[in-house]
Amino acid sequence: MTIYKDTELSKPAKFKHYNGNSRYTTGSHHYNSRKSLLMPQFDRLVTEEKQPANPESQAANAELESLIGQMLTSLGEDPTRDGLKDTPQRVRRSLSFLTDGYTKNVQDVLGEAIFEESYDEMVLVRDIEMYSMCEHHMLPFYGKCHIAYIPNGKIVGLSKLPRIVDVFSRRLQVQERLTTQIAQALDELLHPHGVAVVTEAYHLCMMMRGVQKQNSSTVASCLLGDFRDDSRTRQEFLNLVAAADHRHF
Ligand SMILES: [Zn+2]
Repeated sequence: MTIYKDTELSKPAKFKHYNGNSRYTTGSHHYNSRKSLLMPQFDRLVTEEKQPANPESQAANAELESLIGQMLTSLGEDPTRDGLKDTPQRVRRSLSFLTDGYTKNVQDVLGEAIFEESYDEMVLVRDIEMYSMCEHHMLPFYGKCHIAYIPNGKIVGLSKLPRIVDVFSRRLQVQERLTTQIAQALDELLHPHGVAVVTEAYHLCMMMRGVQKQNSSTVASCLLGDFRDDSRTRQEFLNLVAAADHRHF
């Protein structure tokens, strides 16, 4: 099975959904023009802490909790009943955690984990768990991310690759942009000969509502440098990813 779809940064990303062997949709999506991915995106006051020391954060947290209470009322619930009375605080803390990628940048996350190294064969980390939330419905999408790069004098500690995924997945996202941001960040950090990122995800907004395709996952990819330009390198990568294709999400 070929899951590859070429994606170029300056053009709309292509993506497709598939259900087992039969693909049923193809579409495209436009990116916003990008800033450097190494920079943090937002400063914010809302926190995950139960009771932050900073009074401004306390006020921001209280405001968000009040909005969540209003949402419960609007949905027809009674936010004062026992089961719900701490829900605004729980949801505020949970949402803060799930979106804390906004407060992080890749440079800080990597710290000192970039090393000079003459190794120049493909490095591949498969099956990195990925949890994010779609920006259209604020519902989760989750799955796996496969990351490969061909070093050009610099390598990154392998344990850091999942943390790069977290920086971009813990935001409101679309899968295509998430995939591209991970690839671009590695490209900016390591200036490698090539970077390849493939994500496969299940979207609860599709599964729980709308088309209700329970078993369909969405694949997105971003291939840069040698992975885009050299068909043998690309094929080697795709074979290695396919070998990992156990699909036990
Ligand atoms: Zn959605």
